Amino acid sequence: MPLFKQRTIHFIAGYALLFYLWIILFQGNEQLLMWGTSLFSIIGGSVSCVWLVSAYREMSTKLRVFWFPIIVGVFCFFIAICITLDYQVIVGTERPYPSVADFLWLAANCLFLAALIYKVKLVSHSVSFVPFLYNIFIFMTVSITVSAHYLIKPLLQKSSGSMIITIITLAYPIINLGILFTAISLYYLAQYSEQKTRLLFIVVSFLLQIIADSVYVILTLHDKYAIGSLIDPLWTIVLLLIGQASLLSKDNFNYATKRKEPFRSSYIFFPYIMVLLLLLVVFFSSITELNILSIGISLTILLLIVRQITIMKMNMKLVNEYKYLAYRDPLTGLNNRTKFKEDLRDIIAGVKNKDENIALILIDLDRFKNINDTMGHYFGDLLLKAFSERLLSHVHNKELLYRIGGDEFIIILPGMTEKTCNLEAQKMLDELTKSLNIQCHEIVVTPSIGISIYPENGDNIDTLLKNADTAMYLAKDRGKNNFQFYNSELNAKATRKMNIEIALRRAILNEELSLFYQPKVDLFSRGIVGMEALIRWNHPEMGAISPIEFIPVAEETGQIISIGKWVLETACKQNKKWQEASEQPLTVSVNVSVRQFEHSKFVETVKDVLKETQLEPAYLELEITESVMQNFSESIEIIRQLRAIGVKISIDDFGTGYSSLSVLKRLPIDTIKIDKSFIDDIMEPMNQSIVKTIIDIGLNLNLNVVAEGIEHVHQIEVLTKNSCHFGQGYLFAKPVHPDEFKQLLMIKNEALR
Ligand code: C2E
Ligand code: MG
Ligand code: MG
Repeated sequence: MPLFKQRTIHFIAGYALLFYLWIILFQGNEQLLMWGTSLFSIIGGSVSCVWLVSAYREMSTKLRVFWFPIIVGVFCFFIAICITLDYQVIVGTERPYPSVADFLWLAANCLFLAALIYKVKLVSHSVSFVPFLYNIFIFMTVSITVSAHYLIKPLLQKSSGSMIITIITLAYPIINLGILFTAISLYYLAQYSEQKTRLLFIVVSFLLQIIADSVYVILTLHDKYAIGSLIDPLWTIVLLLIGQASLLSKDNFNYATKRKEPFRSSYIFFPYIMVLLLLLVVFFSSITELNILSIGISLTILLLIVRQITIMKMNMKLVNEYKYLAYRDPLTGLNNRTKFKEDLRDIIAGVKNKDENIALILIDLDRFKNINDTMGHYFGDLLLKAFSERLLSHVHNKELLYRIGGDEFIIILPGMTEKTCNLEAQKMLDELTKSLNIQCHEIVVTPSIGISIYPENGDNIDTLLKNADTAMYLAKDRGKNNFQFYNSELNAKATRKMNIEIALRRAILNEELSLFYQPKVDLFSRGIVGMEALIRWNHPEMGAISPIEFIPVAEETGQIISIGKWVLETACKQNKKWQEASEQPLTVSVNVSVRQFEHSKFVETVKDVLKETQLEPAYLELEITESVMQNFSESIEIIRQLRAIGVKISIDDFGTGYSSLSVLKRLPIDTIKIDKSFIDDIMEPMNQSIVKTIIDIGLNLNLNVVAEGIEHVHQIEVLTKNSCHFGQGYLFAKPVHPDEFKQLLMIKNEALR
């Protein structure tokens, strides 16, 4: 709350204190009491009017509709007080009844009521009444009963004047009941509204006014009211509080709602407290006429209330338990995705219209699936637990850490900028990469972290989460174990990836895919000894899309299984066709991705395709990458089965993966293909020795060695000097259409003859 508004509250409190001090100190001195009361009332009322008018001038039209009747009402109220004081202090006579003051008072109350009805209508557009309807009815029933018994009935009995006097007399408590109804409705609505404090000021002001009015009526009924009584300051406090509420309200605000917490005990027990109060009033008002029946009914109601409260307490406990379960992840005990969404919604609502950021830090464990598959799910669970404990010990606000998926965690960091977030993420990365001890295994898991920031990267939960996810995938693409911030460029990438994913589903059906072939050449004779089938995708709108871009997408979505089968069929069929047309059969190499290779039906598919196309298995070579070695024993089994059919196996992009020498030794393969990156810089001494080592290893293990990406003659020289027999590259031929490849074959063969 701004400073000047706090000062006005202090002013009201100080003013009320002084007013009461005056009244208490000068009890008995009628003159001083009268003058003091008049002065305090007039000055207080004037201050309130000044506040109201100054706030009104800065308000929006919507707010003015509510405040205009209140301001007019306050003026009427203020003038009525002045008139009354004028009679009592200056004229020195009793005020006639009814006087102008009474009509002004009534008018003021009617205006207040109208304004409150308008406000209730406005707020109830965004907040439902239904949950508190019964509470309000119970409250009003008790209030009407008490008012009818202590105010309306005695007023009717005492009123001996004309019809007009009776109506004016009764109008007070009845309009006050109306104000009470709207004020209490507003109180309930305020609980779910973003503008709770402002609404509560208004509610408290009018409740105080009703109390002052009611006590005044009771005192006058018993001829006990005199100027300088303890209720006099209340009206001035009411005026000041209304003025203060107008100062708070002048800023614009929306009527956004807060999340419902239907089990707040204060809401639930409130009606019972009202019933108990009524019971007490009934009991004491008829204490002389008590009989066994009335005692019996009172006791029964009391017991019913106790029973009801006990049941409700039990229900609340149960609901809270369910709520705990609904919001917690059972494995790690952290908050879950549902809680994350609700919390983020509240936090966003809290900073709306303020210049504040919220950072979302999404953490995903790298290669968790592998750990789960190799070490088992129980071990995976222990790892997740240990990791979440480590995370917990590093986040400041533990309630804002969530597990939102298998190995996905998220942290909400309110008030963060990109700079502070950078430091935080770096710190987190350093801590999280330290090894964990699980069942006596020292294990290092690295995280990939994606960060999105509100409001820059999205103003709602879904967008922020999606963007943090996109940033996290970028972190994975950039080698894992790092963090990345979301930016709009990433969004374009993500959209393209999504479009590719969608378009890929129809690529085979629409015949957009084709295979090109790149010759494999004998580096000594320069004759073609085989060819590699390389997929091409020509999309009608997006144009040619490189396999480097779409193969990873197909792997991620599983589409690689059908695409891979199509490649295998097409390549085998094509090779068979070429073999039938020429006397010299060649081997076709087909690339196989990890996911395709590990698919349970892969070996069967290869068998089926060979049977269907009638290609000799010896003329098919499958290119796999070193990454299949992560599941070493399973992969070896698959390779053995493939070799049993008669198919050859080659390791593609050799030197870029993880396979160690000992692993390579145990692999039943035929060929290794040296990755293009080593051939590119073959003149560098370091690369040259790597290439030499790879060739030596290959030859020692009795394998064919193929160099990839040969573009220059000097590369051939180095390679042949080191006894590398085979090569592929643009120097000989780029991957070409099958028709062109046929011609290439003819030319080369011609040249060799
Ligand atoms: P890869 O299997 O290592 O294929 C060699 C890549 O290097 C091909 O790129 C080829 O066009 C390119 N290349 C060959 N010689 C040269 C050269 O002298 N200079 C340069 N700059 N590049 C050369 P492409 O066709 O774009 O394929 C890229 C990768 O996509 C392949 O790498 C392979 O991993 C994957 N891929 C291609 N077709 C298939 C397929 O049918 N199935 C699967 N699973 N992956 C495939
Ligand atoms: Mg290849
Ligand atoms: Mg390669």
